[in-house]
Amino acid sequence: MKIQFMGAVREVTGSMHILTVGGKRILLDCGFFQGRREESNRMNRNLPFDPSTIDVMVLSHAHIDHSGNIPGLVKKGFKGVIYTTFATRDLCSLMLMDSAYIQVKDAEFFNRKAEERGEKDRITPIYDEADVRACLSRFVAIDYQVTLPILPGVNLTFYNAAHVLGSAVVCLDLEEDGKNLRFLFSGDIGRWGLPILKDPVCPQGVEIFVSESTYGDRLHDPIDSRGESLARVINETTQRKGKVIIPSFALERAQEIIFALKKLFQDKQIPKIPVYVDSPLATSITQVFRMHPECYDEEVLVFTNHQDNPFSFDGLEFITRVEDSKALNERTDPMVIIAASGMCEAGRILHHLRNNISNEHNTILIVGFQAHYTLGRKILRGDSEVRIFGMMHPVEAKIEVLNSFSGHADRNELLRYRTELGDTVRKIFLVHGEDEQAEAYRTLLMENGDKDVTIPELYKEYEII
Ligand SMILES: [Zn+2]
Repeated sequence: MKIQFMGAVREVTGSMHILTVGGKRILLDCGFFQGRREESNRMNRNLPFDPSTIDVMVLSHAHIDHSGNIPGLVKKGFKGVIYTTFATRDLCSLMLMDSAYIQVKDAEFFNRKAEERGEKDRITPIYDEADVRACLSRFVAIDYQVTLPILPGVNLTFYNAAHVLGSAVVCLDLEEDGKNLRFLFSGDIGRWGLPILKDPVCPQGVEIFVSESTYGDRLHDPIDSRGESLARVINETTQRKGKVIIPSFALERAQEIIFALKKLFQDKQIPKIPVYVDSPLATSITQVFRMHPECYDEEVLVFTNHQDNPFSFDGLEFITRVEDSKALNERTDPMVIIAASGMCEAGRILHHLRNNISNEHNTILIVGFQAHYTLGRKILRGDSEVRIFGMMHPVEAKIEVLNSFSGHADRNELLRYRTELGDTVRKIFLVHGEDEQAEAYRTLLMENGDKDVTIPELYKEYEII
């Protein structure tokens, strides 16, 4: 049995790993690389393996850095089945369609510019909507903690990862030449006590653990400080008569902010100002949340049991039409605008940032992870001016960061997850973390008694039995 790491090595995007068991190849995740545009584009166009050699794929969750290249995989010859949870399958149908739309628009933009420059080069999208439809027919959904044989000698069980709706840690019971092994791939580990999702589940008897390390060296503020911090930011901005602009991932973060705002309005902790979710994708995803109460924890069930929609309140408006989005630019009254993309790389958030980032009355509220080289990272680190749509804009708005909204386990939560797996774990591989985070988490694990912790090399194959 071997594992080969094809992405998310010493970085947080492009999650994909290949497990070889009894001559069969299992692909764990097939994500997009994100960050530096040209480099990401090149890597996403050229999968570092032949898709036709993969027998089966298992998907941990719907985030694009884990799922984004599934249509490319199928387009380039993968003929197998893709196993995931029910909620992830539903989310993928929305998120991959959205991704296809972006690929098509990007290719059109590139080709238009090339034509203007008199160049002959033309590109095709990495994939389009037809490719997404083709890949969706390969999905097979199973529930958490239901064990399914997916290949001879390979049994799959998903456990709740509590990271985003439908997210799972992938547990594989493997058998080869009479030897048995329990293998666990973390996907992305979430947090205990999140307001919507049930807590993470740690299976027992795991021997090989491939773990994410996104926040291996950082601590988040406690989840229960979310409401108070969010109320403070909104109250201060409203007093300045400004707008609160929240770049948010369409999946999970947007719904958690909506749910937090609902409670703040109910408890009268913030004034009655309008809230706009200006993202067609976030709007559709919020509907998918309504379809998956099996993922809810008690806190949300209190609302649903009383026939109340946890993702709706007076003053909340979901905007889909472009004209309605543009109309917000003309408004000067205090409001909250939640828009994607979460790292400010694309989408309607760019228009809102362009229109609001140079006004000192406004607040840009960062609530999610910002990868290297993204506009979100530049805003987060305090650049005095930023480039948006090719123009420099001075940053005059107040920049606030609420890391309590993170959907990733922090250093202590990662360690808690590892500890609850117990002492059967004999080898750990750390992926999905920038260098300093992965190194720091490795040190922490060694200090806590793990002897064999490896930050793997890209494309290198490791024996696991
Ligand atoms: Zn994720």
